[in-house]
Amino acid sequence: MKETLSFDAIIVGGGLAGGLAAHALARENFEVALIDAEAPDAMRAEAFDGRTTALAYAAARVFRRLDLWDAFASEAEPIREILVTDGRRASPSRRGFASSFHLHFDSAELEGDEPLGFIIENRALRRAIYDAIEREGLVTLFAPTRRIRTDYEKASATVTLADGRRLTAPLVIAADGRYSPSRGEAGLRVNTWSYPQTGIVATVAHERPHEGVAQEFFLPSGPFAILPMTGGAYDGRFSPHRSNLVWTEAKATAPAYLALDDEKFLAAIRARFGDYLGEVSLAGPRWSYPLAFHLAQSFVGPRLALIGDAAHAIHPIAGQGYNLGVKDIAALVETLADARGLGLDIGSLSTLDAYQRWRRFDSAALAFGGDALVRLFSNDVAPLRLARDIGMGAVNAVPPLRKIFMKQAGADLGRLPTLMA
Ligand SMILES: Cc1cc2nc3c(=O)[nH]c(=O)nc-3n(C[C@H](O)[C@H](O)[C@H](O)COP(=O)(O)OP(=O)(O)OC[C@H]3O[C@@H](n4cnc5c(N)ncnc54)[C@H](O)[C@@H]3O)c2cc1C
Repeated sequence: MKETLSFDAIIVGGGLAGGLAAHALARENFEVALIDAEAPDAMRAEAFDGRTTALAYAAARVFRRLDLWDAFASEAEPIREILVTDGRRASPSRRGFASSFHLHFDSAELEGDEPLGFIIENRALRRAIYDAIEREGLVTLFAPTRRIRTDYEKASATVTLADGRRLTAPLVIAADGRYSPSRGEAGLRVNTWSYPQTGIVATVAHERPHEGVAQEFFLPSGPFAILPMTGGAYDGRFSPHRSNLVWTEAKATAPAYLALDDEKFLAAIRARFGDYLGEVSLAGPRWSYPLAFHLAQSFVGPRLALIGDAAHAIHPIAGQGYNLGVKDIAALVETLADARGLGLDIGSLSTLDAYQRWRRFDSAALAFGGDALVRLFSNDVAPLRLARDIGMGAVNAVPPLRKIFMKQAGADLGRLPTLMA
């Protein structure tokens, strides 16, 4: 039998959550093993993930404090304003105020000079994380290979990999995504349902600058978000003005839109996008993601902690999924470092319960809040439309309420871990 390798923590899943957790824990002198089914180079490739992340300003602080920020700072577009309108496209004169009921958040209303967040390509985040892991050499990487099973014993857990290697540690951190096989194997239950919607993602170039304004139109088939990006190249052509679209379309009709040729696909985008940014063209391939809700009923088990989508995978309506994961990581690292400082067992249920108390309620509140928004806004029912428009108008008219929403968007509410404060 092959030798069993020992670590302080084994992280299963090296996506945006697992990769960041490994780097953060290693920086705290924990001996970490990171396992992913994909090779790091494949995860950094252009064809791996077409999404951008709206990284909230408090989550961006984590990347700064972990010395990851400079690797993508020039590719991070600050979000200065957020405009949310109920339906219909914008016009150039009214910059998105298509409905008289709207929400307008302006970072100038917050203390300090931080923007509300940043739009960054997922690829740039992955590159920064994996470049740092490889450069610093503090994390032991097992990739590409799969976790096959985990055996939980009283004082440790042992993970068996597809190639027969065995790793042991007092704690396993599951970052293996929304369907988390580790979560299922440990018997942790999950509340889950699918949305009758597909997220279509595409990057467009446009004639006029976006001025750091993120827009979201609530259309009957679902929200249509236009997220400001830095300039960038596609197919050998540099576009100074780019935005990433997250177009939520009914599951039944999304395949037909995805199958259109470029001209027709662009025409469908233009019909929703409006003309406030001038002429629009495609500046990248199109992508699609099935949308679903997953919330683990417990984020911990004996010798197991869930982070990222393994704990909570939510609708992208508010762009908060990864931001929740970043908060999990900052809270877990702090909890484990404190426990170790006191000489406690980092994988014991009492240590892990402290993490769960910190993170589960906050995640559940945001997950269910986002779900309610999806249900309230993804339709054209007149009384609901009236109620939501009055609600939007009311929030927009009250500056302290607007500020709470901005802090929520910035992941800056509740008890903040030191890495985010
Ligand atoms: C359309 C869309 C737009 C979004 N926009 C935003 C946004 O603007 N802001 C935001 O904060 N969030 C956003 N999100 C959410 C965000 O993308 C996710 O929350 C985030 O990517 C989850 O990362 P993760 O590492 O937890 O999971 P994943 O990315 O799913 O990673 C899981 C990893 O585990 C590995 N794995 C699984 N099983 C095994 C195994 N047995 N052995 C080894 N490895 C394994 C996989 O290979 C994978 O790399 C969006 C989501 C969608 C769908």
